[in-house]
Amino acid sequence: MGKAIDALSKVSGLSNKNIESIWEDVKENGKKLSECSKPHDFQKEKGKRFNDYICSLCGGKVSASSAKWYNEGLEDGK
Ligand SMILES: [Zn+2]
Repeated sequence: MGKAIDALSKVSGLSNKNIESIWEDVKENGKKLSECSKPHDFQKEKGKRFNDYICSLCGGKVSASSAKWYNEGLEDGK
């Protein structure tokens, strides 16, 4: 992970520490999503960044477009 973080730091201008904490968030979010009892119940997150959707069951977050496709897929599968 060290080399990848150095490379990302150069490209993004973020410090290694910032990138590590973002990476931790991503891992934690992925863990929540994979451990969800499913199906996810993605709802627009109130008062937060406009493009975040959060699952009411597991608390995992996804982008608006991911939530849209997931919800449409659920509807189609009914
Ligand atoms: Zn979920």
